[in-house]
Amino acid sequence: MNLRRAGRNRYTDRWTWRVGCPCGRTRSNRCAFRVAQLERVRNLAGPVEFSIYGLWSLCKNKDVPRKVREVTTQISPAEAWQRLLAGNKRFVSGDALHPNQDASRRSALVDSQNPFAVIFGCSDSRLAAEIIFDLGLGDAFVVRTAGHVIDDAVLGSLEYGVSVLNTPLIVVLGHDNCGAVTATKNAVETGEMPPGFIRDLVERITPSVLTSLREDKTDVNDMVVEHAKQTAARLLESSQVISSAVDNSSTAVIGVAYRLEEGRADLVSEFDML
Ligand SMILES: [Zn+2]
Repeated sequence: MNLRRAGRNRYTDRWTWRVGCPCGRTRSNRCAFRVAQLERVRNLAGPVEFSIYGLWSLCKNKDVPRKVREVTTQISPAEAWQRLLAGNKRFVSGDALHPNQDASRRSALVDSQNPFAVIFGCSDSRLAAEIIFDLGLGDAFVVRTAGHVIDDAVLGSLEYGVSVLNTPLIVVLGHDNCGAVTATKNAVETGEMPPGFIRDLVERITPSVLTSLREDKTDVNDMVVEHAKQTAARLLESSQVISSAVDNSSTAVIGVAYRLEEGRADLVSEFDML
């Protein structure tokens, strides 16, 4: 297979591959690779980035039997986490690059998206995912509810991120001094439930608070960590799509706790792919 790396985007950290058609006859007029190259010259487009499978399906040299497999530039779960960490480090130190936020990035994403992480976090206004991980357009598929509480719409959104967008990492993002976790702690301690649908949030966070109390962890920030862990575990229990993707190592689910003062995001759940 004629496959070699052509270059690396310094923001996305993603390799671009130059590929040869699996037909092995790249000089033939019937070869899809040759046609793609000619198209590229004609359109003065950038480096070739496509799947071998896509080329092979177009190639007319089908008389050459070859084993064809899909090649993508998808990064691994561990690489996705390292990239988030690097962005968070820049944010903490005040050296944010604000990548992928210009007009060219915007127009490049009109027809498709290929985010490298799903971030399921609390809605808190101080926890803006793209800012704290120094990301831009098309980098993260973000789902947020108060206290990162799970419901059917959340599960559907996360399943879309994993099964349609093939995102290699789901981050459950909690934070210290979380209002939703604090409200739940108060409700458990006083027995008084908040009114309206806030009660629904509290009921869904209660198991995490009870686990913390059982382990003598009475600080709300310990409860936040427990809640991030339990939310990550519950995603796997609730969604067949997510648990299957984790089983075949195409994605990972991790819990992360964010510190409002330092701006630091710490891994709080097991992540054996690192
Ligand atoms: Zn919160």
